[in-house]
Amino acid sequence: MSAKVNIGVDLGGTDIKVAVVDCEGAVLYSDCAPTEAHRGYGHTINNIIRAINNILQKNNLDISQIGGIGVGCPGQVDPEKGLVKFLPNIPGWINIELADILEKELGLKAGVDNDVRCAALGEQKFGAGKGYNNIVCITVGTGIGSGIIMNGKLIRGANSCAGEIGHMILRDTGGKFCGCGNTGCFETLASGPSIVEMAENYIMGGKSSKFKELAGDGPITPELVARAAGFGDEVAKAIFKQAGYWIGIALTNVVNLLNPEIIIIGGGVAKSGNLLLEPIRKTVRERALKTALENLQIVEAQLGNDAGMIGASLLACNNNKDTCAAG
Ligand SMILES: [Zn+2]
Repeated sequence: MSAKVNIGVDLGGTDIKVAVVDCEGAVLYSDCAPTEAHRGYGHTINNIIRAINNILQKNNLDISQIGGIGVGCPGQVDPEKGLVKFLPNIPGWINIELADILEKELGLKAGVDNDVRCAALGEQKFGAGKGYNNIVCITVGTGIGSGIIMNGKLIRGANSCAGEIGHMILRDTGGKFCGCGNTGCFETLASGPSIVEMAENYIMGGKSSKFKELAGDGPITPELVARAAGFGDEVAKAIFKQAGYWIGIALTNVVNLLNPEIIIIGGGVAKSGNLLLEPIRKTVRERALKTALENLQIVEAQLGNDAGMIGASLLACNNNKDTCAAG
């Protein structure tokens, strides 16, 4: 291996995904470790370090072959300081100097950024956003996040919290409380948990559905609702239509505000494909300003589950412009 490769880490609430990525965005090796968030941030950081050491060892890679490490984190991050400010779904992560800790422990240059921003970078360089300069990438999973690239540049904002699309207020009164403390947030209307809640409400209301049958004694998941919709189940289809409607409303605001060329939709819930994309496209088409709609594309993410790791590796790539052709 002549050119240096980088390590991309995607820190999630359940798993830590680690990959060795070359400068063309190819995942050479990947691995997964548990986050074990309940054991505290120090424990999780040790798991990250162990996972990196393991992937190097297993694949006979020497530290000298690695350009650097990039970590995508699910929340607010100050990439300049390498600081994780707050992770809403991983308790205890407040103002953690993650880049410094990793640099000291591993002897490699480290960068951190928000996970969806990393995914947006990955999609721009190697995925659905290739060739576009004005990109909005959103991920719909447990939460809803976004990464915004305008005029070819990633937008971070004054306090590095630009793109918190999940907390865009879509209802002025009532509604469920969001993890951020507010009510009426987009995230409470169309994320994975809200799809599950809609499904449970239909069951409580006496509607029978295929997803109940598929779940058996187990929990209902967005994937099960999507599968039921695939079987033609009307209740399941109505749930996705409703979630897609709210995503479409949020994206209409985004289209009118930012005028992107392409909107890339990723995350666990987006794996349901056209089931979700169709109501999104319909709503945006009906509600957005006509001038902003010209040539707008709304597509599924291309890099799938690897987008976060590939994008995170680009943070390291940018730290190593001299050794990385793609940087
Ligand atoms: Zn919120």
